[in-house]
Amino acid sequence: MKYRFLRYPGGKFKAVTLSYDDGCKADLKLCEIIERYGMKVTLNLCGAMIGDYEGRLTEEDIKEFILGHGHEIANHGNWHKALGLLTEINGIQDTLNCRLALEKRFSLIIRGMAYPDTAKNISGEKYAKIKEYLTDLGIVYARTPSRDNDVFDLPEDFHLWTPTAHHQNEKIFEYIDKFLALDDKKLYCASRWPRLFYIWGHSSEFNSNNNWDRLESICEKLGGKEDVWYATNIEIYDYVTAYNSLVFSADNTRAYNPTLIDVWFDIGGTVYCVKSGETIDLV
Ligand SMILES: [Zn+2]
Repeated sequence: MKYRFLRYPGGKFKAVTLSYDDGCKADLKLCEIIERYGMKVTLNLCGAMIGDYEGRLTEEDIKEFILGHGHEIANHGNWHKALGLLTEINGIQDTLNCRLALEKRFSLIIRGMAYPDTAKNISGEKYAKIKEYLTDLGIVYARTPSRDNDVFDLPEDFHLWTPTAHHQNEKIFEYIDKFLALDDKKLYCASRWPRLFYIWGHSSEFNSNNNWDRLESICEKLGGKEDVWYATNIEIYDYVTAYNSLVFSADNTRAYNPTLIDVWFDIGGTVYCVKSGETIDLV
């Protein structure tokens, strides 16, 4: 029996995603830079704080330059309140109001989220309750606001999705080198799970630190690679969900894909693609 591991679209072993918070006006410059390197971002917005606030994106900005360029917008609380510090009813209210506001304004279905403000108290029993109500509110993933994990793994729990690194992490270029050097064919057979490099931050930090060149350097190194899938957070979530929905025969010789997404996977070094709605023999 051989191990089976998810591969990203095109059979790729590696993916990169970005997540930036608060809907800062500087998101426009961030998008302009990352797009030159074929990268995508998820921008986490506060439903009640669009347009009317100085230094923030307007509705037109978001429609034309964010959604119009294939990026994702996600929930960041209507008023940017830390869920771990709120009562459940208030957390539910702030999350739902943000979702309703974004969906109405942009005619979308919003399922992603980044926890606002702080991860304080997002653990233990409190976290279990938060996860339960986020699930009930249709939030399928939520990024934690810190705790760089310095590893390149998909999350075990999409409601506690911890990034690889903040862009200011002093070791980020070291991590990028390590990530780029990874070759699934050279890894031990039990270590060939898919890898993800996940960067987060606030675009306004590039202004306050006067270091937009840092983003350029990150993108120059990490962007434009043939063997990397550049995706938004929700694209990764949807793809992983499709992979987890595949159906296999008991002896692992046949795979059925009941989803709307073509899915790739690796079995013992051989990469297979099972297209939407198809059944294939694994030989
Ligand atoms: Zn924030």
